[in-house]
Amino acid sequence: MSEQKVAVVTGASRGIGKAIAEELARQGHIVACVATRRENAEKTVEAIGGQAKAYGCDVSNAAQVLEVMTAIDDDFGTPTILVNNAGITRDTLLARMSDDDWQKVIDVNLTGTYNCIKALLRGMMKARWGRIVNITSVVGLHGAAGQVNYSASKAGLVGLTMSVARELGSRNITCNAVAPGFIETDMTSELSEEMRANVMASAPLGRLGTPEDIAGVVGFLTSDAAGYVTGQTITVDGGLTL
Ligand code: NDP
Repeated sequence: MSEQKVAVVTGASRGIGKAIAEELARQGHIVACVATRRENAEKTVEAIGGQAKAYGCDVSNAAQVLEVMTAIDDDFGTPTILVNNAGITRDTLLARMSDDDWQKVIDVNLTGTYNCIKALLRGMMKARWGRIVNITSVVGLHGAAGQVNYSASKAGLVGLTMSVARELGSRNITCNAVAPGFIETDMTSELSEEMRANVMASAPLGRLGTPEDIAGVVGFLTSDAAGYVTGQTITVDGGLTL
């Protein structure tokens, strides 16, 4: 088990973020669970049942992010683990995509990550230790019809991850990304049976992923054991995009 740290997980109310928060708590860390509304993340805090607290903010709003990160620091001390997991989709073909569909997805997925890193950067630099993990997607590496906005936001995270890793390595802060394939959550609950069958047939591991499949890899990347890994995007997709 790593020494206890203060960890912030965004999008921690359900799905992948909830599993990540639970994994980090299992590793002995104090976990700040962030969702758009504090009440949404309370479920996760109850499931953890230990050192965890729920916070509410819209990650695309820099002022709200700063307020929440300051509150977390006041409650528990400097956060040195940050998992940028909050994300949304607004899927539609490019010809039908509204400017709002484009902007909203970029604002939450890409700018939200920038806002959270910006807010916690100084503390990690002072601590001379930090772990940042950004949740991107296989779609950010390979593209997908109907997801021009989402794949652009997720590809942006891959570039951001490499640049942050280059800037902050000398301060002993690592920054990596995890690219999930199809994971069973609310986000993918609308997938047709045909699409599910396709994924299962194409992935060598023959199944959709679980939130815990992602949480395990994030738990490794935030641990001391991953101290020499930075700037990487680790695909966790059952082999789907091999
Ligand atoms: P869910 O839709 O189940 O959960 C999304 C989470 O993000 C919720 O906790 C939600 O909070 C939070 N959130 C959304 N918008 C904001 C915002 N503006 N500010 C703060 N929190 C916000 O998604 P998943 O668990 O499926 O996905 C988690 C991450 O993994 C996302 O980044 C997604 O893009 C990525 N991913 C998912 C894949 C999948 O197959 N599921 C595949 C590849 C990547 P609230 O409860 O308040 O709405």
